Amino acid sequence: MRKTSLDTLPAEGGLGNEPLLAVDNLHVEFATRAGLVRAVNGVSYSLNPGETVAVLGESGSGKSVTAQAIMGILDMPPARIPQGEVRFRGTDLLKLSEEARTQVRGQRIAMIFQDALSALNPVFTVGWQISEMFRVHRGMSKRDGMKKAVELMDKVRIPAAKQRINDYPHQFSGGMRQRIMIAMSIALDPEVLIADEPTTALDVTVQAQIMELLAELQRESNMGMILITHDLGVVADVADKIAVMYGGRIVENASVHDIYKSPAHPYTKGLLESIPRVDLKGQELYAIKGLPPNLLDMPTGCAFHPRCPYRQDNCVTDVPPLHEISGTRNSACHYWREVLDGDQR
Ligand code: SF4
Repeated sequence: MRKTSLDTLPAEGGLGNEPLLAVDNLHVEFATRAGLVRAVNGVSYSLNPGETVAVLGESGSGKSVTAQAIMGILDMPPARIPQGEVRFRGTDLLKLSEEARTQVRGQRIAMIFQDALSALNPVFTVGWQISEMFRVHRGMSKRDGMKKAVELMDKVRIPAAKQRINDYPHQFSGGMRQRIMIAMSIALDPEVLIADEPTTALDVTVQAQIMELLAELQRESNMGMILITHDLGVVADVADKIAVMYGGRIVENASVHDIYKSPAHPYTKGLLESIPRVDLKGQELYAIKGLPPNLLDMPTGCAFHPRCPYRQDNCVTDVPPLHEISGTRNSACHYWREVLDGDQR
């Protein structure tokens, strides 16, 4: 495959009709000893400046693998991308040389990982790690890099940033470490920020603070954000669109408003019903029955059929296409009308 150089990647500016980032019919598979794992099967979604797309699904749904493909951090092999495009400002990142991708990664598309303690280097101070971004990518001196690190730590509201610049990651709480990760990810003013379960390891109050911080930073910079999560409860206030993934496919995509008002896929409906509600205090919490599919032995027909309360005979044999419900809404369910109408199971 011919590799393109970074020179072909457009600078910031007008996008015309092209989204800032477009994942188009992406397929990712892994060669394992047990067989071929098709982790991502034809996933498409797009992101515009200032927009947040939440990619939602259980563990193994393919949401993080898609993000790793966007970032270009999949180990290839065993991973392989047999089909699809990841277009950033109209340029397919999958066709860039590794050198060009390194330039994009961190500088124009950045990522926050779930576990800040493992993502940060335990043997270097946080100031050194943040300032390294400026030294390596902007050619700054150590002194100027440290000054920028203090500014960024202030920006993500780490108290007494100047005094804490020489502390090590383990000297911070989980929430503060996640703030340091956020500081590193926004250091070079990326146009796209991918946040992979950024609040999973944190308690509910700190989760809300981190989500608020991300939304605020996004408003200031107009960057696009992909928020990967298994928790529909955290996306309501921050996301514009939601793409729900199951078994490596998108099973529903729509605006946050549409999904919360009336989901059009039984899996999305189950996820919504699983969110704890204050008004139902004392009642047993709903849980979707069964387990996510085994990617080495996917169910026939609709992958959700073993767990689906709406299942009919044809669901076991026929893979549902992604039906267009409106210009901005799709559902991969044969019976999306019944689900939308709220027909009883
Ligand atoms: Fe359920 Fe059938 Fe729809 Fe799949 S296609 S989600 S099994 S009703």
